[in-house]
Amino acid sequence: MSTTKRRSQPPKALLLINADQLLTLRAASAKPGPRRGSDLKELGILKDGAVLCLGGKIVSVGTTKDALRDPWIKRNRARITEIDCAGKVVLPGFVDSHTHPVFVGPRLVDFEKRIEGASYEEIAAAGGGIQSSLEAVRKSPKNALATKVVTALQDMAAHGTTTVEAKSGYGLTVESELKSLGAIKNAASRWPGTVVATLLGAHVVPKEFKGCSQKYVEIVCKEMIPQAARRRLAQFVDVFCEQGAFTPEETEQIFEAARQHGLSVRAHMGQLSETVLWPFMRFDPASFDHMDHVNEDDIPQLAKRDTVATLVPGANYFLSLKDYPNARRLIDAGVPVALATDYNPGTSPTISMPMAMSLACTHMKMSPAETVAAATINGAWALRLADRKGSIEPGKDADLAVFDVKDYREIPYWFGANHCAATVLNGVAAARH
Ligand SMILES: [Zn+2]
Repeated sequence: MSTTKRRSQPPKALLLINADQLLTLRAASAKPGPRRGSDLKELGILKDGAVLCLGGKIVSVGTTKDALRDPWIKRNRARITEIDCAGKVVLPGFVDSHTHPVFVGPRLVDFEKRIEGASYEEIAAAGGGIQSSLEAVRKSPKNALATKVVTALQDMAAHGTTTVEAKSGYGLTVESELKSLGAIKNAASRWPGTVVATLLGAHVVPKEFKGCSQKYVEIVCKEMIPQAARRRLAQFVDVFCEQGAFTPEETEQIFEAARQHGLSVRAHMGQLSETVLWPFMRFDPASFDHMDHVNEDDIPQLAKRDTVATLVPGANYFLSLKDYPNARRLIDAGVPVALATDYNPGTSPTISMPMAMSLACTHMKMSPAETVAAATINGAWALRLADRKGSIEPGKDADLAVFDVKDYREIPYWFGANHCAATVLNGVAAARH
């Protein structure tokens, strides 16, 4: 595994210079916590920017002129790898805080049948739906799944993403959920970026437990969560809380088990219908994701807390939904908002954060600046990694994306095209060309 070898030698000094715009995402105010309200559009832009990275960390940030006058840089210039970013934009690598990468193949039956207007039941009867993903993952060896995940991670990095949250959830047996988490761990060791693993054993109730979901919840709480925690295979536990999936009571039960085993929680909430959120606040969730339907009374509660509302417009787009999450209502009320791809084979087969940002601009009335902060620093908050990720500041991990555009607003503007020229992942540079 070449990456492991690379990791054992500290990444070399790396100097990015001449960036037309360097988006530092440095906090404009001293307010702690994720970015809210008008702070979401503060990008801390430096013109003619430069960043010096050493040993996988950012050590200095400023103008190119100042960097080239720095005595240490002058002395060591011959040994520093330089990336000329003239005519380009440099920003923190995207933090994709919601993905489901452990699956075998695309769901083309779903895609085609849905276009024809088929119902969920008709899609399932034609051999599509989540059941097809479950069968494939259960049969697949761990290494084959890990290869799928690595390929997705590399593809994500080629589009500017340097930190990825990866969920299990297409096995739904103790063995295949642990196998999926093992595949994520294996893939993470072969990729220079950062991966955060989440157990989503509570994705749907598998058909073997139809009519006795409580039995399945017991397996999640008493077998999956303890084993995942003991083997350090996951940092988070996620639940799909929705009609037809898991009830609010079952979600609380699963959160309680996660807490007992020292795992943090997050949940799919409000995708199809409204769920009252305040009873879950005692578990201090890192994030509530989707949030298409949010109860009016929950908004002031969310505005006071660090639980991030993670919006995933790729799912709305791919399902041809007329409505998108009401980002303006959340942002204007002070709720911290992040953007993620929701990469998965059924409802959002995209690894592109710029695509999610573009959809947020055109369908959710977020400004280009807001989408940048939502895809970087607030994504980092949604994974509880904001002390290391999401902004270009000395001391943080050297995670950068270089885009071949002169103005950051072009990133969501040129939808469907990839203008990412290079990424730096924990100090390791990966050029696209
Ligand atoms: Zn999801």
